[in-house]
Amino acid sequence: MSSVPQARAATPGVTAMTERQEKIQRIVIIVLTVLPLAGFAFAVVNFWGAGLSVTDAVIALFFYLFTGFGVTVGYHRLFTHQSFVARRPLKIALAIAGSMSVQGAIIDWVGTHRRHHAFSDRAGDPHSPHLDDDDTIKGTIRGLWHAHIGWLSAPELTDNHRWAPDLVADADIMRVHKRFGTLTFLSFALPAVLGGLVTWSFEGAVTAFLWGSLARIFVLHHVTWSINSICHFFGDRPFRSNDRSTNNWLLAIISFGESWHNGHHAFPTSAVHGIGRGQIDPTAAMIRLFEKMKLASRVKLVTPKQVAQKTVEEIKPRAWVRKRWSNV
Ligand SMILES: [Zn+2]
Ligand SMILES: [Zn+2]
Repeated sequence: MSSVPQARAATPGVTAMTERQEKIQRIVIIVLTVLPLAGFAFAVVNFWGAGLSVTDAVIALFFYLFTGFGVTVGYHRLFTHQSFVARRPLKIALAIAGSMSVQGAIIDWVGTHRRHHAFSDRAGDPHSPHLDDDDTIKGTIRGLWHAHIGWLSAPELTDNHRWAPDLVADADIMRVHKRFGTLTFLSFALPAVLGGLVTWSFEGAVTAFLWGSLARIFVLHHVTWSINSICHFFGDRPFRSNDRSTNNWLLAIISFGESWHNGHHAFPTSAVHGIGRGQIDPTAAMIRLFEKMKLASRVKLVTPKQVAQKTVEEIKPRAWVRKRWSNV
């Protein structure tokens, strides 16, 4: 990663951390990545002897869906890219759900992701796997590691006033942003409390904590980071985009449609990322549901003409895109 920090130094709205901030960041990252990893490993080992109870499976799945859609519908498509407009209760709920994914406070996440789009796979991109220009096996692994998790410890701060002024000006969002610590605590604690109450046992609380808190946070972390690493490296590129983003069907379901990442980079404000037929996109389906419930409006979709202009290999837009297109 030797060339990366120098390349970033000139990025507008990015400043270097003080030594103290760097130390705090290191501790936070170690706790928030190693703890879920240890919990996940323990849960898997334990699984061979004790199995997985229905209670723990339901709790883990619920929190995976709640926090996962918080990131994809909320943090990503609503707050970063403004793919639709949400009514206030939905907006606040999505901000809280996204925060509980334990991927950073909302405005920091959005600022960093906007930088990723502004400099995709060029100097200034916070998590490109390609910045080293080293395509040896060692260089490739180093690039993928940086894009997946290494970038988290970069000693830099994204200026939220520069990269997310709309969210800084939103009092609701600022309130949620400042409570990231509390929401992180709740994300760890609630599954355990629920497991304890449902089974009325201490053991029930412990196993729900293992699966519903640690393993769930671990899996969602790595699925989200895989979009940064795998989906800028492996997969198809049906659209022209000024980067090396890819569509990867393998991750489509577990990432709720975020792995149609080349479609997303080609049309960043589109509410649908899986633009082609058969490209499963649960996040788009959820936005559609919110629209039907009158909680979301002004949903942005690409026009067939826009799709044709950027298409490298012909793809047939899905029915919803064909019927309901508007300019993005
Ligand atoms: Zn990307
Ligand atoms: Zn994006």
